[in-house]
Amino acid sequence: MIKVSKKSNKNIMEIFHRKIILLLFKWFQKSSKTVNSITSFDKDKNFTLEEIRILKLIFRKKKLKDHLNKILIFFIEKENFRNQELKRLKKIYFYQRKQLKKGNYNLKVIKIEPIISELFSEYFFKYLFEKKEFWNDFISTEFSKGIFKKNFKIQVCPYCNTEGMFQVENYKIDHFLPKSLFPLLSMYYLNLIPICESCNSFHSGKGNNIIKPIQSQFYQEIGTNIEFYLDLKNNSVHLKSNIEETKNFIDLLKLKNKYEIDIIFKNLKSDLKSFGIELSKGVPERYEEFYSRQIKSFEGRSLYYAKKYLFKDYINKKNLK
Ligand SMILES: [Zn+2]
Repeated sequence: MIKVSKKSNKNIMEIFHRKIILLLFKWFQKSSKTVNSITSFDKDKNFTLEEIRILKLIFRKKKLKDHLNKILIFFIEKENFRNQELKRLKKIYFYQRKQLKKGNYNLKVIKIEPIISELFSEYFFKYLFEKKEFWNDFISTEFSKGIFKKNFKIQVCPYCNTEGMFQVENYKIDHFLPKSLFPLLSMYYLNLIPICESCNSFHSGKGNNIIKPIQSQFYQEIGTNIEFYLDLKNNSVHLKSNIEETKNFIDLLKLKNKYEIDIIFKNLKSDLKSFGIELSKGVPERYEEFYSRQIKSFEGRSLYYAKKYLFKDYINKKNLK
């Protein structure tokens, strides 16, 4: 629900895009034989010294080397196929990135060969991303998935706004557009967001689902579009929105179930009660001032949007009397 910063990991992830992903596209295009030993790059005139340094770094990882060789064979084996397929892949890759950069997350699924999907989602995202020593050799900077998550500097799950994020290391990195359907976006910083375990799960969260049209939290503060209602009869909290993208977001994240639970109802009810008591001591003209101060103290914490809405609603109703 909170709006998250686009800048948190932009620079480092874009270096990965330029120096690894684009370089491997080039390698797939230029190479005529698979790699047996990394010293073979020394004589290769197709690549600059920096590119050779990075290729050596990549091919030092045996599992990754085997997979890249497999992809190269896949390209070489079919005549005339390599250039065409590489051109198509690059076109999709750049197109999808461009759309996300424009804030458009309503993309259609395009079929990508499993061997390429695996390179992005398994070898880049699950394997290389995690390896501290790889990043160190690659850009001489301390970096890994853990640091990626910390860089967001958030204290609560950006999706549900219910789970505190003090243990940010335990949170999962979600692909807003699932990597099973959009593998080429596996390492794109505008598709990666740290979230709580529950929002990440298939049963209680979004899993690999997509719903269109949808907004992304890199561009929208979705929480401000949601209306909250404290149901005192049934001891639960309801939420709704009149905006289609927000409604879809609520459905995708199963937020209604998340807010219906007793502990959230109790928390909100008790905070609203204290707010009401404080309010009853003051004069109506000062309500707004008191409200702003209270809300400010909840900013960036869990249930911020629910409190923001409910407290405001309370003041409005009180003023009507
Ligand atoms: Zn969550």
